[in-house]
Amino acid sequence: MGVISKRLEQHFFNSFKEFDEEYFSSVAPAPLQKPQLGNVNDLLARDLGLEADFLKNRETFNLLSGSNIPINITPISLVYSGHQFGVWAGQLGDGRAITLGELSVDGDLWDVQLKGAGTTPYSRFGDGRAVLRSSIREYLCSEAMHALGIPTTRALCIFNSKTPVYRECTENAAVICRIARSHIRFGSFEHFHHRGEKSAVKNLAQYVIQRHFSDWNNCETNYKELFRFAVLNTARTIAKWQAIGFCHGVMNTDNMSILGDTIDYGPYGFLDEYTPSFICNQSDHQGRYSFQNQPKIGLWNLNALALAFSTLIPKIELEEILNEYQPEYEKVYTRLMADKFGLEHTPSKKLKIIERLLEPIAINKIDYSIFFRSLSHYRLAGENSFIRDMFSCLGDFNKWAADYNKLLQHEIVSEEVRRKKMLNVNPKYILRNHMAQEAITLAECGDFSLVTDLLHLLQHPYDENSAMSKYALRPPKWASTISISCSS
Ligand code: AMP
Ligand code: MG
Repeated sequence: MGVISKRLEQHFFNSFKEFDEEYFSSVAPAPLQKPQLGNVNDLLARDLGLEADFLKNRETFNLLSGSNIPINITPISLVYSGHQFGVWAGQLGDGRAITLGELSVDGDLWDVQLKGAGTTPYSRFGDGRAVLRSSIREYLCSEAMHALGIPTTRALCIFNSKTPVYRECTENAAVICRIARSHIRFGSFEHFHHRGEKSAVKNLAQYVIQRHFSDWNNCETNYKELFRFAVLNTARTIAKWQAIGFCHGVMNTDNMSILGDTIDYGPYGFLDEYTPSFICNQSDHQGRYSFQNQPKIGLWNLNALALAFSTLIPKIELEEILNEYQPEYEKVYTRLMADKFGLEHTPSKKLKIIERLLEPIAINKIDYSIFFRSLSHYRLAGENSFIRDMFSCLGDFNKWAADYNKLLQHEIVSEEVRRKKMLNVNPKYILRNHMAQEAITLAECGDFSLVTDLLHLLQHPYDENSAMSKYALRPPKWASTISISCSS
């Protein structure tokens, strides 16, 4: 791991500078009033090779809060379009995101982006700002997802301010500094395709290949490989969402990363009770982006991406690659679910068996994460009352346990080994809405202590952490009054 000196601003690249301005616009962040550091993500700072106190340097503080940009840095916002809720929305773009540049860490480039740093040429009717509550939600959730092993953007630090922003009421503006392998979206390709700019689609594909897959040297098949990468990695990421119980909430094509990483945290939600039809976004009246719809929406979005790639790859080949999505999704999802159930043996690797085991959990409205964490302690010959008592119908439990026991009999590892493995894949802590809400309420009064504590808790979701054990329980009653929509 290379160590970046305190003068962070001296380490920036701008890999977009070779491009024409049709891909981006140069922008200057609009400073916040009295920006204050809310929190720094120490683990991410370490991963980037930054020194622990890197934000004590005034230039770095000014840079990452968007207050003052040194002349060697040329911030940009990217243009993209997209399908929103299944409808072509035309040009969107980074309306409130400004990429400062890229940091090179051990040969990999990481985008460093400020979210909420003011208007850009793509802001349309927006103010270019992000409110503190949505910034905290993204800050905590992206790190929680990373710790759960789900590919995602992360956030390095969060700044609060006195700048007023107007949503349903007046709130304070905040900025997070987001780190990503890439901010190129399906919608980036759709943008140029829908304008008939074939060579721009090609250049963008070449850019992504050069930046992320410089070892691919066969030009003939590179575009196909890039498309396959997007298909397979989208399938894998969504399989991970489904297994952990994460609902993204706004799976528009402009929120889909070309690398398959989770990006743009808005009205997301983790499952409490296992309700496959769960809708986390209150603005999603039709339930297009409900939990159970996510895998098929992933494929819908990839079909939109396929259209954008249709000038680079013959249609028949695009279709062949799209056909790889469902098997890949099922393979990864069943493997992850089999691990969650502690079933390593072949009969368990069938999707139907997993679905059959899940059905009574839904009918009995059992908390998804608590169920699996507790299941780690299940004994084949035991009474297992801690699981039985979660079922409202005893008959359902008896039938379920008979099914599960039959599967467990095929397992060859000891119960102790199985328990340890299950405790490592079934998190004790996920980011439930009420946890984020508690942290937000305090932070809005200037107290970021719970943001810090939750960040540390969620960075170790499989550890017991007795001091924070109340966050491993079902949500309190008041949590049902929390309303999460796109307004952020
Ligand atoms: P999202 O739903 O957050 O993915 O945003 C959809 C589009 O709206 C993107 O182009 C965003 O950049 C843009 N957008 C969202 N909020 C704002 C804002 N406050 N100001 C400007 N643009 C915004
Ligand atoms: Mg977005």
